[in-house]
Amino acid sequence: MERTFVMVKPDGVRRGLVGPILTRFEQKGFKLQDLKLMMIDRELAEQHYGEHRERPFFGELVSFLTSGKVCAMVWEGPNAIAGARLLIGQTNPANAAPGTIRGDFALEVSENIIHGSDSAESAGREIALFFGDAEEPDIPRFNIDEIDSYP
Ligand code: UDP
Repeated sequence: MERTFVMVKPDGVRRGLVGPILTRFEQKGFKLQDLKLMMIDRELAEQHYGEHRERPFFGELVSFLTSGKVCAMVWEGPNAIAGARLLIGQTNPANAAPGTIRGDFALEVSENIIHGSDSAESAGREIALFFGDAEEPDIPRFNIDEIDSYP
């Protein structure tokens, strides 16, 4: 069993593609372990894409990622890391096969709507970066005895 980190980028959230993307992962059989809609700041964006720091598109990539909410997720299943990359498709949507998320929903590499970890090492690092090191998802819990009344 493997876990991977997937993130719908701001263009995907803006275009209302969170639902269709969740559906594809669920239909495939992966299990959703954690999910949150969040703004990411420059520091987190730069850490997340640290390996691309020297690339010419880095500045634009960081500005793009911080331009709106992202939907961060953890998916689990057999070969989840490679499996998620297959569902996502090639980095450049122009080369992504129809049937993949980027192949069906995107046109340009600068707005390719989704990220998926590319290795076990990246998955571990990215899950920790976005969700902390906790083994279990951070589910808010309440004590029933402390609730006075239900709405
Ligand atoms: N990217 C870009 N221009 C490029 C190559 C990459 O804007 O020429 C962006 C794009 O958003 C991509 C991200 O940088 O998803 C990370 O690139 P990587 O090669 O790691 O591709 P991925 O793992 O996302 O398929």
